[in-house]
Amino acid sequence: MARKIAVVTGASSGIGAATAERLAAEGFELHLGARRLDRLEAVARPLGAHARFLDVTDRAGVAEFCNRVPACHVLINNAGGALGLEPVAEADESRWRWMFDANVLGTLRMTQALLPKIEASGDGHIVIVSSIAGLEVYEGGAGYTAAKHAETVLAETLRLELMGRPVRVTEINPGMVETEFSLVRFGGDQERAAQVYEGMTPLRAEDVADCIAWAVSRPSHVNIDRIVVKPREQVSATKVFRS
Ligand code: NAP
Repeated sequence: MARKIAVVTGASSGIGAATAERLAAEGFELHLGARRLDRLEAVARPLGAHARFLDVTDRAGVAEFCNRVPACHVLINNAGGALGLEPVAEADESRWRWMFDANVLGTLRMTQALLPKIEASGDGHIVIVSSIAGLEVYEGGAGYTAAKHAETVLAETLRLELMGRPVRVTEINPGMVETEFSLVRFGGDQERAAQVYEGMTPLRAEDVADCIAWAVSRPSHVNIDRIVVKPREQVSATKVFRS
């Protein structure tokens, strides 16, 4: 039997890279995309995966990437992230624009481009990596939480619109995961990024990949709507126990 095909966006690091590794172990043929091609190829090579440049903020580029995917059973919309932690009064509009473009519109573009193939697979699955920021808010986080709330809405709406069609929709909502997320958020400031996880044990990217792999490997008639997964020491977006 031919292997099922999965597409993972933002597979050059963190949750996307770990998910690619898990899905390869589950037997998927993988098509991986991200902007840092050297990093992406380093992830793809040992997995025998296809790696191609992908910027989810570029509609024409998304179309080109998706045209080269021969078929698609599973789409993991993972590319994205946060920029900054300023209060609304001081928010930088260009950062908000990037957060909406990469997280929300990136998911929209990839989903639109691949939906015909996902449906044609006869057993398709769209996974949206949102966040607990898609369900909660916190001070300084409005640009990111608004974008992640929009991804949550996108997942819920898609599930309604795809009713009766052979496509499952799952939203993944992680709490704190130690990846390059905080480094990107704080513009490469290593010290500030490290402080985010001080005195607590965050999730590893592999923990989230585990949730994704579980959701996509349930029998076809089972739709996992949402998985909220946090470190034991994190009880909400704003409450974290630190020793
Ligand atoms: P990460 O290590 O920074 O990974 C982000 C990935 O997204 C990278 O592979 C990056 O690759 C890719 N990406 C960013 N912009 C892109 C674009 N325009 N086009 C294509 N790829 C792009 O952080 P992560 O934690 O794994 O983040 C993955 C997802 O999980 C994000 O959606 C994030 O919001 C979500 N999340 C993270 C956490 C957390 O605490 N870490 C918690 C909840 C949810 P390139 O730079 O090579 O393009």
